[in-house]
Amino acid sequence: MSTPVDAVVVGGGLVGAALAYELCGEGLHTALVDRHDRGRATDAGAGILSPETIVTKSDPWSGLAMASADHYRHLVPELAELGAPDTGYAQCGSLRLAIREWDDELFATTRQQILARSVGTVHDLDPAEARAMCPPLGTVRAALHNPQAARVDGRLATAALLHGARLRGLTELAASVTGFQRVGSEVVAVETDAATLACGAAVIAGGAWTPELGAQLGIELPIVPVRGQIVHLLVEGADTRSWPILQPVLSHYVVSWPGGRIAVGATVEPDAGFDARPTAAGIRQLLSEVLHLAPGLGDATFVEVRTGLRPVSADDVPILGRVAGTDNVYVATGHGANGLLLGPYSARLVAELLLGRGPSTDLEPFAPDRFSPA
Ligand SMILES: Cc1cc2nc3c(=O)[nH]c(=O)nc-3n(C[C@H](O)[C@H](O)[C@H](O)COP(=O)(O)OP(=O)(O)OC[C@H]3O[C@@H](n4cnc5c(N)ncnc54)[C@H](O)[C@@H]3O)c2cc1C
Repeated sequence: MSTPVDAVVVGGGLVGAALAYELCGEGLHTALVDRHDRGRATDAGAGILSPETIVTKSDPWSGLAMASADHYRHLVPELAELGAPDTGYAQCGSLRLAIREWDDELFATTRQQILARSVGTVHDLDPAEARAMCPPLGTVRAALHNPQAARVDGRLATAALLHGARLRGLTELAASVTGFQRVGSEVVAVETDAATLACGAAVIAGGAWTPELGAQLGIELPIVPVRGQIVHLLVEGADTRSWPILQPVLSHYVVSWPGGRIAVGATVEPDAGFDARPTAAGIRQLLSEVLHLAPGLGDATFVEVRTGLRPVSADDVPILGRVAGTDNVYVATGHGANGLLLGPYSARLVAELLLGRGPSTDLEPFAPDRFSPA
């Protein structure tokens, strides 16, 4: 058994790294255990941060999402001050688009919802102006511009958060968590295949693999993996840094990065289980759609396919809070298709709860025990 730490974080994707950063920042001696599974969602995520244009969700999700986008505006400079590596964060704006005749009806409905919610921020844009913002674009029937939208690189943001946590004394263990030692309702140690870590608290941020950790605690945490494939292209010699995120209402999105890198995503494959392979059908779907949206990308170089398993909860709402029946086990997962947006702020809220503070956003709607029969 190791010297006791104050908290063990299980899982080292963006959510676990953000938890480690927050807990170390509060002076807690924290250990992070991660086995970096193939299909880690954070490594594949596109990085779109645009809560203003997500219309499929209602409150309290939307409130959490808006606060999460705001959180980045403070977190990124804070990390830079600590000398952390660049997160790739930039406010690049986004275009919500109708590109085919059958997009028109959905575009009109969602346009109204978005404009009503984001008065003074999101606005209509002339199709010619939209094409001028991103020259490879093809036919544009209608466009909405969200200048607030930003992008972040999940891998770089995780590295930056871990940098910050290490400066504040983080202990890291590359291992698999295999069990929890309990005394009554308290977890006193986390067992791994490398060592047993005595602890004052544990936080589960296991992404799509969370149910197996719940089972070790005897609780149900209903998360399923939803595979997403994303193709990366390279456009030589273009100033892609300033291109907005492209979000056609009924097709795949495009996220542009400095240096000519373009990410085209993503497939949504709930039946693939934990199979994290890229597939011929997935790649065909992505390339065919992007070349319709932006024919000017036809000459781009194919670079790679990234595949990740989105952790989606039974009601597609994050699971955040203390695990019922325990005094000191917390969970932060179930962020689905929006974990790069929601992850760092969720981690802040769960850290506040662990420290005995009233979290800045009410976590009741996200409570882990909402799935248990009353
Ligand atoms: C293709 C794709 C595109 C996406 N695009 C966006 C986007 O544009 N915007 C957005 O906001 N979100 C996006 N997402 C979603 C986002 O990437 C995820 O919601 C987020 O990364 C989840 O982070 P996480 O830390 O919870 O899980 P993960 O990143 O999957 O990390 C979980 C970690 O826990 C570890 N672990 C699990 N069990 C154990 C154990 N027993 N012992 C040790 N370690 C363990 C795993 O090995 C893994 O390293 C996208 C996802 C995909 C797949």
